[in-house]
Amino acid sequence: MNTRSIRFRLTAWYGGILVVLGLVFGAYCYWRLDHFLAVYVTELFSHRAERIASTLLANVGWSGEAYLGREIETRYAPEANDRFIRVTTSDGSVVYLSGEPYDQSFAPEEVPSPAKSLSGVSSGIVHAGRHDLLIATVPFATGNQKYLIEVGGSATPIKNVLRRFLVSLFIGLFVVLALAIWGGFLVIKWALAPVKKITATAEEITSHHLDKRLPIVDTGDEIANLSKTLNQMISRLEESFQSINRFTADASHELRTPLTIIRGELETLLLDEGLSKNVRETICSLIEETDNLSKIVQCLLSLSRLDAGRAQMERVRLDLADLVSTITDQMVPLADEKNVTLSAQMGGGAEVVGDRVRLKQVVVNLLDNAIKYTPEGGTVTVGVNVSDRQAQLEVSDTGPGIPGSDLPHVFDRFFRADRIRLGTIEGAGLGLSIVQSICTAHGGAVKAENHANGGCRFSVKLPLANQQNKAGQK
Ligand code: ADP
Repeated sequence: MNTRSIRFRLTAWYGGILVVLGLVFGAYCYWRLDHFLAVYVTELFSHRAERIASTLLANVGWSGEAYLGREIETRYAPEANDRFIRVTTSDGSVVYLSGEPYDQSFAPEEVPSPAKSLSGVSSGIVHAGRHDLLIATVPFATGNQKYLIEVGGSATPIKNVLRRFLVSLFIGLFVVLALAIWGGFLVIKWALAPVKKITATAEEITSHHLDKRLPIVDTGDEIANLSKTLNQMISRLEESFQSINRFTADASHELRTPLTIIRGELETLLLDEGLSKNVRETICSLIEETDNLSKIVQCLLSLSRLDAGRAQMERVRLDLADLVSTITDQMVPLADEKNVTLSAQMGGGAEVVGDRVRLKQVVVNLLDNAIKYTPEGGTVTVGVNVSDRQAQLEVSDTGPGIPGSDLPHVFDRFFRADRIRLGTIEGAGLGLSIVQSICTAHGGAVKAENHANGGCRFSVKLPLANQQNKAGQK
């Protein structure tokens, strides 16, 4: 799991805040319940004490203290009910003290005496030995005598209720928080799903695929707005790329005619027999340079048309292996001239849909480079096969290979690797750019890599004709 992802961090924050809120809420509930239980029980005790005062103590003058004790035992049975009842006079002498409760939760004689100065009803927790008691104390005066009536009970049942509440609260909170965090994780995942789609599409948008747009889920939220803004930016980029391409195409087109005229004029000059040897050589060299220039202009024109999608492209079904073996045969004389062995390994089933002339250019450029850069006595191998449901063309050689740092740039325009290593081998650095543009225009790709034991391999992958049909039917 990627701990730096927005999904993980949002869930962690959300979960953390929920846990803190859950704990605060739990603590508040525990505190309130503790308070309410204590208030409820002590109110019960103080009512009982008031009843003892009003029904029994009010008549103690003529009924006697012994009668009071018996009546309390009969009416309230404190031992059987696990209650504590004590009646004391203002001078501290005990008129009545209940016995040990059935559950032995406290020892009545250990309960400290009440404060004599008490003037109103009071209640609270009293420590009696190892036990805590909740006691309500009510003062009562009859005749000249003042009494304090205490009614209480062990605090343990309340503590037990609170303990059970705490356990249930923890289990409940744990389940609720786990569900809330899991739900939150799913909601965040769902909310961020468009971002995943946008990232995948954005990765496909290169200078060759500026016609693509990011998906917009029309929710009107920030992500939809971001996609719209990015799409507007891509449109502007597409426009600028197109105008650069148009400019290059127009400039190349305009340059072709003057170059043809210059070449024609130079050839006419050569017809003059009175020219000195030096002038003749200079004119020949100028014709050569004009030819090079024309080639470059022609390449630039093809490239810019391909990039702008303005290139006229035929779409015919053809067998790549047939095309490649015909071109290989045609290039054997060139290889023989350099004493380079040209071998072919053709597999079947590599049918593609494309422009025959342009695909031919791909094969010619790759084979031309391989023969050009392979030293005498070397071998160039060309093969066609089907791999990963794609037609694959491979051109390998036993030449010097391409320096690792140059590999990512060989398809850049006007790029020529290590001039010292290539020596006098001529080239403009546009051949591989054209190969790449043609492959892209056919929905394919080209890759360059070095062999482990020297030389390099160019592999072109193109969609198979039947795969294209399937894609078209979808
Ligand atoms: P060029 O006209 O210079 O051959 P390319 O675009 O065809 O232009 O190739 C670009 C560069 O890639 C070349 O200058 C060369 O350095 C390198 N290159 C291409 N093919 C090969 C090969 N088969 N072996 C070694 N280097 C190559």
